[in-house]
Amino acid sequence: MEKYEDTQSREIAVSQIYEAKTIGDIIIIIKEAFPTWIIGVADRYSDNFNMLNENWESICKMCKVSKKKVMIVNPIDILSDKQTCIRRVSEILTRVGYSVRTIKEMYICNKCSLAVPCNQLEELILLKYPNYIKKFNICCSS
Ligand SMILES: [Zn+2]
Repeated sequence: MEKYEDTQSREIAVSQIYEAKTIGDIIIIIKEAFPTWIIGVADRYSDNFNMLNENWESICKMCKVSKKKVMIVNPIDILSDKQTCIRRVSEILTRVGYSVRTIKEMYICNKCSLAVPCNQLEELILLKYPNYIKKFNICCSS
């Protein structure tokens, strides 16, 4: 976890992100400041879990932005007071329309390239949506 701790150059990177003009610029700054953080991106969640796409849509509506991508990242320590920069970066991404998920929660299906929940999260989703009927795209079933 130490690799995501705050440094002076990361403080500067965050302030540059606030001034960035395009999302492409934001991503470049993030990759420079936290080279190992972003693992991959997907266009959306697998259609098997469309409720995740709908939740994401409602967050974007609240932020008055369009949906961008699902971003799979390495986990950060959300309770650490030494990782405030990366936490702000994650919040900024959410506010511009990304859905930021850790590799512990989601992976990218190697056949359809969409985001799929890991088993543990899938169980939680099934608890939260008791009427949800599991009908998998073959490609996304584990
Ligand atoms: Zn798939």
